[in-house]
Amino acid sequence: MSSSAQPIDRIRERISQAADGRQVDLLAVSKTRSDIEVRALAESSGQRAFGENYVQEAMAKREALADLGPVWHLIGHLQSNKCREAAETFDWIDSIDRAKLIAPLARFRPADRAPLNLLIQVNIDDEDSKSGCRPDQIEALAAAIAAESRLKLRGLMAIPAPGDPASLRRAFAAMRQLFERLRATHRDADTLSMGMSDDFELAIAEGATQVRIGTALFGPRPGKS
Ligand SMILES: *Cc1c(COP(=O)(O)O)cnc(C)c1O
Repeated sequence: MSSSAQPIDRIRERISQAADGRQVDLLAVSKTRSDIEVRALAESSGQRAFGENYVQEAMAKREALADLGPVWHLIGHLQSNKCREAAETFDWIDSIDRAKLIAPLARFRPADRAPLNLLIQVNIDDEDSKSGCRPDQIEALAAAIAAESRLKLRGLMAIPAPGDPASLRRAFAAMRQLFERLRATHRDADTLSMGMSDDFELAIAEGATQVRIGTALFGPRPGKS
């Protein structure tokens, strides 16, 4: 791939403008993209952090792309019966939304790997259809994670309900408050993951430290996912 401008350059520029001197990390959402597409992006841009929604799909990519040294995040719902594969495949799980996942992830995290990084996913708009815990459940989940030496609590993640900029901004601001509250008792929590292709600048303005971008990097996904 040539070194001429590609979508990721423009995205990085927009992130850094919105961040106004703060560090904001880009998670490239690679779900549904082929190994070839992901490799091309990694090799041409140096991007190493990738987000996947399905454990099985990520296991195949991890094997195919191991030579690149990528960092894999699970951003999709984690089924309880996939905890072993998830603990072996990912560096981060960004979708912790119930206590039941915590002990199996700790037990199955391989001893020769660094502790598994976790984000607690919050259902910030209280949508029936969405994964994520209620805000009043965050502290109990955080305490349970902090008690496990094979797990590392890194922060919070959210996907606000679609809406106008004002409602998105309210949701992002509410997440920021929850994040600050978490940090008061969990000083090592350093990651607030919010913002996608259509709204990442708003999320950054409200305090995101990490944005998750797929479509704006790779183009539209075939079908829905
Ligand atoms: C698919 C997905 C994204 C990326 O969405 P785009 O609109 O393609 O940028 C981000 N976060 C989660 C949790 C996703 O499932």
